[in-house]
Amino acid sequence: MPRYYIWTIGCQMNKAESERLGVLFCQQGYKPAATVNEADFVILNSCIVRQKAEERVEDKIKTLEVLKRSRPALRIALTGCLVDSDLDVLKRRFPHIDYFFKPGEYPGWLGDKGSAFILLEQPQVSTFVPIIQGCNNFCSYCVVPYRRGKEKSRPVNEVIGEVEHLVGRGSREVVLLGQNVDSFGCDLPDKPDLANLLHQLNEIEGLARIRFLTNHPKDMGDRLIGAIENIEKVCEQVNLPVQSGDDEILRKMRREYTVKQYRKLVEKLRERVPQVALITDVIVGFPSESEKQFQATKKLLSEVKFDTVHVAAYSNRKETLAAKVYKDDILIAKKKERLNSIEKLQTEIAKEINKRLLGEKVEVLVEGRKKGKWYGRSRNGKLVFFTSFENLLGRLVEVRIVDTSPWSLQGEIIDSNR
Ligand code: SF4
Repeated sequence: MPRYYIWTIGCQMNKAESERLGVLFCQQGYKPAATVNEADFVILNSCIVRQKAEERVEDKIKTLEVLKRSRPALRIALTGCLVDSDLDVLKRRFPHIDYFFKPGEYPGWLGDKGSAFILLEQPQVSTFVPIIQGCNNFCSYCVVPYRRGKEKSRPVNEVIGEVEHLVGRGSREVVLLGQNVDSFGCDLPDKPDLANLLHQLNEIEGLARIRFLTNHPKDMGDRLIGAIENIEKVCEQVNLPVQSGDDEILRKMRREYTVKQYRKLVEKLRERVPQVALITDVIVGFPSESEKQFQATKKLLSEVKFDTVHVAAYSNRKETLAAKVYKDDILIAKKKERLNSIEKLQTEIAKEINKRLLGEKVEVLVEGRKKGKWYGRSRNGKLVFFTSFENLLGRLVEVRIVDTSPWSLQGEIIDSNR
């Protein structure tokens, strides 16, 4: 039986798409290979959001070139955000690659009909489900709209059908994915929105939890906040990238909100959903970012106190507006210094937030075992480890927190049958 191997670089969307590609390969009679050397078909799912990711992709492409030379029968496919519309250029640049297909587009020879309702055979307890592809926002630093195209939502019935299927195969949680989930449904005939979808998914028997990411602060509306507040299975966790704490930088980033508007949204969310955990993204070293502007970002983080902050150094991506209009004028060393400074600050904040959970009871959905302990997440996304001799995979259990760190919690089980 021929074997396939998938290399995935990048975001959850790429991971979800690779999972689906794996299923399609299995349906074509392939088996997964343990290593790239044992594969007859290698798929590289690429990311070019940052320079570093692109360098990793280039390394893999070189490795594949060497492999192809020693094994000419090896088939190679490239997908993900490196694949743009100019396939001829890519073919000339990488003659050792046999197939190119754009992110989220499954090629006909894999047996897909174009849409992505793919029957996963053995889903994990928590499974990613893409609900909208592409992005219409064109933030000035971001390459995604150029590579993933315009927003395209999946029909509600297709998403529901897929989630029912996943639950039938053992999934208890779904994480709905989109570059901007707030736009879900805008392009569909009856214009359903994410709140509509969440209400319908909530009715699926056997599904315990629903999460979604990523939100855009300019688009997150009251209906969605109401859905988080009132729909039982929707978890209290929101991914709300702020990117900067300075209005001028936000304007240059084309984010279309001000720091004041962002803070108001956070206040509203916390007022209506007191348990909500907030996750944000920050870019440091955007062109022209002064020390004062950087300090404004730190001030925002110190005051809002997010549960998690993903911080990245600005990376100049040549198709983007920022690359065309602004000079990448912050030295790499300065970017690194700012990045480290935010990571240090956030470690202290997360330590303080998690410490408050000491002695508290939390509901955990058990996702697996690591180093002799069960692990899973609380409703608001905290990673919790605990010991039990029972098989608890996929179960909702109650755990008391006995130790905390900035990154995870340790607990002891109180009730294994919630
Ligand atoms: S919202 Fe902005 S940052 Fe997010 S994918 Fe769209 S263009 Fe990129």
